Amino acid sequence: MQVFKEIIARWWSEFTLQTKLMAIATLVVSLFMSSLTFWAVNSIQQDAQINDTRFGRDLGLLLASNVTPLIAEDKLTEVAQFSGRFFHSTSSVRYIIYANEEGHIFFGIPFSQDEVKNSLTIQRKLELPEDYNPNVSNPVVRQHLTPNGKVTDVFVPLSLENQYLGVLAIGINPNPTVVASSNLTRDVTIAVFISIWAMVILGGVFNALTITQPIKELLLGVKNIATGNFKQRIDLPLGGELGELILSFNDMAERLEKFEEQNIEELTAEKAKLETLVSTIADGAILLDSQLKLILVNTTARRMFKWEETHIIGENLLEYLPPEVTQQLYEPLKHISQDEHTEDEKDHHNILPTRGEFRISLNPPNQNTFRILLTQVLDQNRENIKGIVMTVQDITKEAELNEAKSQFISNVSHELRTPLFNIKSFIETLFEYGDDLTEAEKLEFLQTANNETDRLTRLVNDVLDLSRLESSRSYEFTPLDLAQPIEQTLRTYQLNAKDKNIELIQDIEPSLPPIWGHYDLLLQVFTNLVGNALKFTLEEGTVTIKAYAVKANPENPSEYSHVRVEIIDTGIGIAQEDQEAIFDRFFRVENRVHTLEGTGLGLSIVKNITDKHNSRIHLVSEEGVGTTFWFDLQIYQERKLS
Ligand code: ADP
Repeated sequence: MQVFKEIIARWWSEFTLQTKLMAIATLVVSLFMSSLTFWAVNSIQQDAQINDTRFGRDLGLLLASNVTPLIAEDKLTEVAQFSGRFFHSTSSVRYIIYANEEGHIFFGIPFSQDEVKNSLTIQRKLELPEDYNPNVSNPVVRQHLTPNGKVTDVFVPLSLENQYLGVLAIGINPNPTVVASSNLTRDVTIAVFISIWAMVILGGVFNALTITQPIKELLLGVKNIATGNFKQRIDLPLGGELGELILSFNDMAERLEKFEEQNIEELTAEKAKLETLVSTIADGAILLDSQLKLILVNTTARRMFKWEETHIIGENLLEYLPPEVTQQLYEPLKHISQDEHTEDEKDHHNILPTRGEFRISLNPPNQNTFRILLTQVLDQNRENIKGIVMTVQDITKEAELNEAKSQFISNVSHELRTPLFNIKSFIETLFEYGDDLTEAEKLEFLQTANNETDRLTRLVNDVLDLSRLESSRSYEFTPLDLAQPIEQTLRTYQLNAKDKNIELIQDIEPSLPPIWGHYDLLLQVFTNLVGNALKFTLEEGTVTIKAYAVKANPENPSEYSHVRVEIIDTGIGIAQEDQEAIFDRFFRVENRVHTLEGTGLGLSIVKNITDKHNSRIHLVSEEGVGTTFWFDLQIYQERKLS
């Protein structure tokens, strides 16, 4: 029962208020109509009942007055004949029964003679109503229901001259027209009741089909359009205003769809252009939203921060940056991503995007240096922050170059200061105490000043050479016979070697193929290398210049790939740990171990020149045994062939 109630409650709650009100109104109206009709029927029936009673009583009294004398005289046959005529003369009489003073039936119509006999024989007794009094001449009337309507029973006492003779019971049929009219009224009422409901239900269905349905579809369509689904159309075959509304809706949706397509095409093209632009720029470009989540990262930025393999779009930037960068950018990023403009600024619409520039160096092993620019992206009204653009430049090379430049300048100034200081002090001494010095001392001082001047000149020349080499000036190469610069070098150092009692050996392979190079530059290489060899070789030693062609293919002796040059000395050698550093500018082992003339630039110049010849200078050295510097030069013929 409870479940049933719940089901009804749920079913009822599904209806709208309007439907509920309509159902209640219909119920009230139909109930009112039906009760009105039933009341009418009832009153008609009551009227009929009164009429039937009155009619029955009159009829009973009439019959009684006629038959009483006959019964008194015991003329039962005449009673039967009279009653028969009476019964057949009207259709209103249902039955006529006579009973004697004890209530035993002695005659009845419409019973047959036999039946009467039988009934008489079996001594059937008439059942009298309780309020029946034989001493009162007034008849008693009651009604009982039969399938054919209410039958009025009238009991009339038969008495003549105060002698009670028995009772006459007469049954009166109900009035047929009244019965028919009351039945009709009832039927009409039921029909009215049903038709009210049928009309309401039909009206509801019609309403739902013709108005509610299209309006619901339209509502759904408008909702869809509002959410951006411009493909929405309504397909309902309706005329009139609703039909026009649907047509206009479809028209509007179509226009919107076309407009959107056009817009999307334009936007996609613009986006593609911008993306291509951003991806091709040399700087790293990163776009963040105001929550610092990554929206766009170009290829350069991915490479710089090693994000090639990582899926980072939509992630928080701070979790992916190198720690040094996060450390420096955490606060600025937080600050820049928050809208910190005053109301006054906002009112005047004069907000400029906040910017920030940072220079951040990564720790080893990366050691990259980045210049990072942060710029706010403001919305159209320049009021709210939409995101942040982060531009990243890898300035590692620039930083290194700057570092090298300042190092070089400081080294050069330091190197220049020493001979200048020496010259100044000797000349000052000569100037101030010249008179107190002997001629030999004066000469010695002058000699030293002269030597220092030479050193200064050498230094300046070397610096000039090096800077000329390092500037990206291009040198014109020609085919060269290596024997010439080698012989010139040896000639220059001939006297020097003799002084030191060092043997200079020239070991050039006969018919050496010409090489591709620059005469003056190669002469400088030989000068520097042989000069060093003589400088660092003790007396009785040897310095050899060797040049020979290296065969590329041992099976074909005529095919040379390059010429190798070796400068071999039997000098003091270079310690293993210094072997790499000696090519750096101003590096001199003797700064630590001994003092010999030199600028520390010679080998840097050699390295630069061999680089210019697409070659590399190598060395093999053992302390106390000697040193060999060697490098390869390209053969001219091979170059021509290739
Ligand atoms: P410097 O002009 O002072 O010789 P270099 O650049 O030519 O400068 O040489 C750098 C250093 O390399 C020298 O100071 C020396 O210690 C070392 N060095 C160069 N050549 C030789 C060599 N043949 N034998 C031993 N040490 C050498």
